[in-house]
Amino acid sequence: MNSNITISEDGKKTHLLSLLPEELEALILSLGEPRYRAKQLFAPMHRGQSPAEISNIGKVLTAKLSEAAVYSLPTVRKKLVSAIDGTVKYLFGLDDGNSVESVVMRYKHGNTICISSQVGCRMGCAFCASTIGGKIRDLLPEEMLGQIIAAQKDMGERISNVVMMGIGEPLDNYTNVIRFLKLVNAEDGLNIGYRHISLSTCGLADKIDALAMENFPITLSISLHASDNETRSSIMPVNKKWSIEKLLAACKSYYARTGRRISFEYTLIAGKNDSEKAAVTLAALLNSHLRSPKDTMPIHVNLIPVNPVTETGFASSERKTVEKFAAVLERKGIRATVRRTLGADINASCGQLRREEEQNYLSFVKEK
Ligand code: SAH
Repeated sequence: MNSNITISEDGKKTHLLSLLPEELEALILSLGEPRYRAKQLFAPMHRGQSPAEISNIGKVLTAKLSEAAVYSLPTVRKKLVSAIDGTVKYLFGLDDGNSVESVVMRYKHGNTICISSQVGCRMGCAFCASTIGGKIRDLLPEEMLGQIIAAQKDMGERISNVVMMGIGEPLDNYTNVIRFLKLVNAEDGLNIGYRHISLSTCGLADKIDALAMENFPITLSISLHASDNETRSSIMPVNKKWSIEKLLAACKSYYARTGRRISFEYTLIAGKNDSEKAAVTLAALLNSHLRSPKDTMPIHVNLIPVNPVTETGFASSERKTVEKFAAVLERKGIRATVRRTLGADINASCGQLRREEEQNYLSFVKEK
């Protein structure tokens, strides 16, 4: 009997959605049940059914399982659907009462979900709503997976792509994120291919090196947002630890090792990082660090007019400025696209709904 698989160090029961297929098998065997039961459980659990709802496993196993482990999904606390493009935004409640956001975007090639990786964030980016109250805690693998399962179940439609661009810094929750990636890729589970998964980071260079060693062919997105260290440090404190040079060196070796293209996110803030000079500097920076001496690496920059957040006071660049910025990059051999805004009517950028909800809650508590 493998007792440490059911109870973790802090005395909590194992969550059934945190287990990889071979681990679920070990648990089933330790409960004195035949191996094939694990397969009977894994697929329906990953579609959103609790063991009690899976009819063919029998009452005895259901009872043993509820003794040894737990099963739960995030609950829908709020759901907003865009009247413009059908984008769906969820505020999900977690078992401990915290909440996180997920957004499902509808594209011709399928549904893409943007999930959160932490409750809050401690990275402190000046323009971002998710970091205002700091980090409350890391999300567990089953809570990241649970956002996808719960959204899919609620919508009654398959989700085929995942972007880790919601609340939190995924590489600041490295171990849980790695387990989540293995779970979401499991053949009998959601079976979402690594090529259909993107991970966005503010630039923890040491963790980018570690991720390269894992050899998952996921797409890496780097939130760059500035073309010189002074500007970047002023809006992204992480740059004081991992400078642009260190970050781009990690990107270069990530590409050398995995062969996967990297995309760069650049949020345009009026008067801060959107000048023509900044565009020229950005192109030179990327070309010199990533394409020299060999001109092989495909580089893609996503330009995103900053989404004004009440507390940050930043304003979005004019459309003309954005187009000029893109044109400079293209002229210097760097592919640039201006990100289309989805769900504009439902405040679809992450962090804002959770904040709104917290503030309502706070004023509710104050009124009482
Ligand atoms: N921590 C990760 C992922 C979460 S943020 C990261 O930094 O990449 C996802 C993306 O949204 C990042 O590129 C982030 O910089 C950007 N972002 C955050 N607040 C924004 C805002 N107000 N307007 C536009 N983009 C924003």
